[in-house]
Amino acid sequence: MSTTLISGGTVVTASGTLDADVLVAGEKIAAVFARDVTPSAEAAPAADQVIDATGKYVLPGGIDVHTHMELPFGGTVSADTFETGTRAAAWGGTTTIIDFAVQAKGTSLLATLDKWHAKADGTCSIDYGFHMIVSDVNDATLKEMDACIAAGVNSFKLFMAYPGVFYSTDGEILLAMQKAASSGATVMMHAENGIAIDQLIAQALAAGRTEPVNHGLTRPPELEGEATSRAITLAKVAGCPLYIVHLSAAQALEAVAEARDIGQNVFAETCPQYLYLSLDDLARPDFEGAKFVCSPPLRPREHQDSLWRGLRTNDLSVVSTDHCPFCFKDQKELGRGDFTKIPNGFGSVEHRMDLLHAGVAAGQLTLPRWVEVASTTPARMFGLYPRKGVIAAGSDADIVIYDPHVRQTLSAATHHMNVDYSAYEGIEVTGQVVTTLSRGRVVIGDGTYQGSPGHGTFLERGLNQYLR
Ligand SMILES: [Zn+2]
Repeated sequence: MSTTLISGGTVVTASGTLDADVLVAGEKIAAVFARDVTPSAEAAPAADQVIDATGKYVLPGGIDVHTHMELPFGGTVSADTFETGTRAAAWGGTTTIIDFAVQAKGTSLLATLDKWHAKADGTCSIDYGFHMIVSDVNDATLKEMDACIAAGVNSFKLFMAYPGVFYSTDGEILLAMQKAASSGATVMMHAENGIAIDQLIAQALAAGRTEPVNHGLTRPPELEGEATSRAITLAKVAGCPLYIVHLSAAQALEAVAEARDIGQNVFAETCPQYLYLSLDDLARPDFEGAKFVCSPPLRPREHQDSLWRGLRTNDLSVVSTDHCPFCFKDQKELGRGDFTKIPNGFGSVEHRMDLLHAGVAAGQLTLPRWVEVASTTPARMFGLYPRKGVIAAGSDADIVIYDPHVRQTLSAATHHMNVDYSAYEGIEVTGQVVTTLSRGRVVIGDGTYQGSPGHGTFLERGLNQYLR
């Protein structure tokens, strides 16, 4: 079994920092040597390979629990395949993604899962799991949820938005939540009041307001707050653990905080775009705003402070990306003259770790909290811990060596995502990935991609480890 010693670095975990060397044997972490207690030169046998991490951080690989590779949406398909998307993720220090298999109405969950396995199988550079999007709640679907759990998929996403496509009624949501509760599974919710939003959209179009900014104006934060509260109430009645995806609005955060204060199993994630971008970007002239169309929409800047605070107080437990890129040319352009035709989403999977580290540099998060929201909590929330999310003996050697001092400018000219623009174009951050290991194998190193599509394996996940 080949061994690698990562020497001289500062190991950062959710519980703190430690000057330590990390010994990797095969696909696992074999030992962590605190240098002032057990110097690896004395304690460890000579390793086959030594990676010098002096002056760098050694982190558990990032876990992005919300991506959409090759997602069919609005007559087109998101631009990153599992191959290009997982490679870009590795460049950015993410070593696990959890993507969404999407049930089309009238189809079965297991057939859907097979379809997504076929897309990902043999193409991923890093490990991956799946959540299941349930868009057709009926007796057969509800029965199949248990089979999904047996197949390692135990988180089910429902939508209160997109009537006619993904939308479920409150009654359907309640049924799915009851079923999830009886199996210990977690329900994930896209919480926006899609019925009310559709009325606002119809009014905007009737009045000739077709520019991209109207995507934001027709999805006001109050309707995210309302839907979040309603989801929390339904989950309480069903006794079901609830995870609010891509929380963007202060109103929604308030509802989550209130539920958590009374001990309900309610959790939430936010995404880098809601921390760094705003409605102003959506309002950029000449259809440039289309580059920033995602749902929920980017919010007025004042929401950002609430979100950072929520990350510190743990009312927001996870930062994921909702990575769902569409090229400007031919994809975003479908919505010229009608903002409702702009495919929703953009690419972030490569930049999540860097943008959060920028939050550390700005004093918004501590170093351990960075690792916690980007890796450790996602692992626990979705049943991957301690195999993933920690630097400890016995865990998978998913390790990122991170230089906290390098300055870089995010740009489509240098990113590795398969999309022709960057929503973060020109943003300068401090810090950059130097090396990424996936199960002991170097995927990114010496400024090159050294991985291989197909190295990444499907992860059967256990249950949420935060339930009370
Ligand atoms: Zn999503």
